[in-house]
Amino acid sequence: MRVEDLIAALQDMIDDETLSPDAEVRLAIQPNWPFEHSVAAVAVPEPRCDTCGAHAGWKHEEGCDEGVGLVDLVNSAEVVYLSEGGQIGYLSGEAREAVGW
Ligand SMILES: [Zn+2]
Repeated sequence: MRVEDLIAALQDMIDDETLSPDAEVRLAIQPNWPFEHSVAAVAVPEPRCDTCGAHAGWKHEEGCDEGVGLVDLVNSAEVVYLSEGGQIGYLSGEAREAVGW
């Protein structure tokens, strides 16, 4: 799923009042033994040089094929992570039905 697809899906549900903007975000995991978990954080990895691993704004390591000087990368991550914040309990029957499990 892409970020813009997730935003659009959530916005559509808010617009038609299927979802409150104050609703809590939870993760449904393990279809065969379904649990619900909280979401702890939304995070993107810090950009780094593909060759030497130096962070953006740092100097490339000596001998890096990308050259010398500072790593010039913008943080336009290709993946965003939602970190799991702990098990809340078993997924309810209504929630399993909603996600198609
Ligand atoms: Zn480098």
